[in-house]
Amino acid sequence: MALLEIRDLHVRVEGLEIIHGLDLSVNAGEVHAIMGPNGSGKSTLSHVIAGKPGYEVTDGQILFKGEDLLEMDPEERAAKGVFLAFQYPVEIPGVTTMNFLRAALNAQRKARNQWELSTPEFLKRIREAAGWLNIPHDMLKRGFNVGFSGGEKKRNEILQMALFEPGLCILDEIDSGLDIDALRIVANGINGLRSPERAMVVITHYRRLLDHIEPDVVHVMSKGRVRKSGGKELAQELEAYGYAQFEDAA
Ligand code: ADP
Ligand code: MG
Ligand code: MG
Repeated sequence: MALLEIRDLHVRVEGLEIIHGLDLSVNAGEVHAIMGPNGSGKSTLSHVIAGKPGYEVTDGQILFKGEDLLEMDPEERAAKGVFLAFQYPVEIPGVTTMNFLRAALNAQRKARNQWELSTPEFLKRIREAAGWLNIPHDMLKRGFNVGFSGGEKKRNEILQMALFEPGLCILDEIDSGLDIDALRIVANGINGLRSPERAMVVITHYRRLLDHIEPDVVHVMSKGRVRKSGGKELAQELEAYGYAQFEDAA
């Protein structure tokens, strides 16, 4: 069985069905891109996988490592290794990035029945990850995301992802608002976290992120369903011909 297996998912938001029978299967070690126009339900899908409240699953299944995610609250899902990098990261004034990440990581480890990290061990890990993400030390001493540029916030998300060692990473428009340099840093960070045990779902509506992160599979999502799946050439096809051709398929 695939690492993430979604079958015939139907989701309602405020009584309105947004996802209409979506199937998606992602193997360990793979990176999948989900592309699609605004309003097709991509963020809804990522929220439902992570367990954000306010979404009603009326039918279907989401299995992660063979376990039913829909039975778990968001914290349990995170402890199992589901990580959602947010489209709009939160700011937390008054708590340094360093302290926030440490508290979050230790809470996560506790939920996984792992030991709390000692200060030197935590510092070693965060310095290593910050190093290859080009995150300067003084950024870690500032309030979490407070006054960070768009690029810094995204790098901070990837830093958090690196520390948490998730099994499934969902990146919802991590590329929005990034200039070319920031995009490259974020993409390098994501590439550095690819591993045989880990799957990634990268949601974007631009192809440019996929110039840096080579997906194994590209899915076109439109109007609440996966309309077509293929290799990375599908992203090129989309850029050339647009999304309209897929809307009446399936
Ligand atoms: P995408 O991420 O692909 O742009 P979304 O998942 O954000 O799409 O939205 C899909 C559809 O669901 C849109 O039509 C949007 O207006 C609707 N929707 C999303 N969230 C809510 C909400 N909280 N209340 C009402 N409608 C919503
Ligand atoms: Mg979205
Ligand atoms: Mg059904």
